[in-house]
Amino acid sequence: MAAKTDIMEEIVSLCKRRGFVYPSSEIYGGFESFWDYGPLGIALKRNVREAWWHNTVRSRDNVVGVETGVIMNPNVWQTTGHASHFADTLVDCTSCNQRFRVDHLEGDTCPNCGGEFTEPRRFLTMFKTFVGPVEDDSAVAYLRPETAQGMFVNFKNVLNTSRLRLPFGIAQIGKSYRNEITTGNFIFRQREFEQMEIEFFCEPGTDDQWHAYWLEARRQWYLAYGVKEEKLRLRQHGDDELAFYAKYCWDIEYEFPFGWGELEGISNRTDYDLRNHSEATGQDLTFFDEERKEHVFPYVIEPAAGADRALLTFLLDAYDRDVDAKGDTRVVLRFHPFLAPIKAAILPLVKKGGLPDIAKEIVAQLQLHWDVFYDESGSIGRRYRRQDEAGTPFGITVDFQTKDDNTVTVRHRDSMAQERVPIAELTAFMAQHIRPESNPKLP
Ligand code: ATP
Repeated sequence: MAAKTDIMEEIVSLCKRRGFVYPSSEIYGGFESFWDYGPLGIALKRNVREAWWHNTVRSRDNVVGVETGVIMNPNVWQTTGHASHFADTLVDCTSCNQRFRVDHLEGDTCPNCGGEFTEPRRFLTMFKTFVGPVEDDSAVAYLRPETAQGMFVNFKNVLNTSRLRLPFGIAQIGKSYRNEITTGNFIFRQREFEQMEIEFFCEPGTDDQWHAYWLEARRQWYLAYGVKEEKLRLRQHGDDELAFYAKYCWDIEYEFPFGWGELEGISNRTDYDLRNHSEATGQDLTFFDEERKEHVFPYVIEPAAGADRALLTFLLDAYDRDVDAKGDTRVVLRFHPFLAPIKAAILPLVKKGGLPDIAKEIVAQLQLHWDVFYDESGSIGRRYRRQDEAGTPFGITVDFQTKDDNTVTVRHRDSMAQERVPIAELTAFMAQHIRPESNPKLP
């Protein structure tokens, strides 16, 4: 196994080589903390989103989805306090000029060179832009730093167009932007990234219970998709790091090769957002409890995950280098089949005898449901290896026996075991293995 620090390098290089992730605008030298997803990366990311959506929205009758814009009325950010508070405190080293976020520092000298720091400065991390043709103060707008506000400002719309009653959730997946002052660690910290967030509205007084529920439900989600349990931990935010709107917050952390890092934050936002938006707009953003004939501002539990950090976690956790009895190494990504970018590779053993035609028919059959890949070049062993490195769970080989009995060889990525499956049963066989995980049963 490679040393811990090399694993990040290996992953970055694998991502580039196989088309998972590329540096942004690479031909211009890249752009710090911006990244692009390639063909395999976007297939993986779509599956991450889908796995999340399945678990949090589709399979629950009290959570619905929305998709709201990246740029919102700038008054939203005045009301929430982001326009003045969504900031990091930074210092620069006076010797080596490296910049640090104060909340990431342990001592009061530069960890890089031991130098002295400048006075701490506050730095607003929301990106600003102008809307309309005139670039003056009245035209300033922001790129959202979280998707959450899209759910809060639509609270009333959703309530009026659904029959939801407390407790219920509104969920969304979408891009967020932060002008991060410390960068690095590949796609872990980006300036443009994707969030998967739920605002779960509940009766005040039940918020602690729902917080405990979501913390465990979300931890179970990562485990269900194969993340190793010993690599996950829960950590409560200290007062110094707690967001200004939260009563408390717990992070689900993963042990990345560069140390423990936040994967998802589950915070109790109380009624802060609804109450403030209601005051600022004069709109009634309460829930009317028919039985008690009472208006309540619901409390909000917010599980906020990052699609990119989840993807990085699944990649790192799936990455293995197997060494066989002969000393040959194979790089294999042991993705959960539902997450794997390509579900099956269809491989004619040779390029003649009608085998490619049969293989292409299988491709057409399976493509109705999944991303599959046709490959006829090189030895069968090499073709399997290429797929192992992409994390493809099944290799389907069309050989001479296929012509006699209409069966194919299915080779399993992890065990490398092989079995024969009738072509007519392939779709059912795949469907049995490639399923989203259901919700955990929690008390
Ligand atoms: P950090 O302390 O690492 O800056 P945060 O506490 O500011 O993160 P939250 O505001 O809780 O993060 O955002 C919720 C989730 O969104 C995070 O758990 C993470 O998965 C994702 N996320 C936040 N910032 C970034 C970023 N710059 N790049 C990638 N993902 C991010």
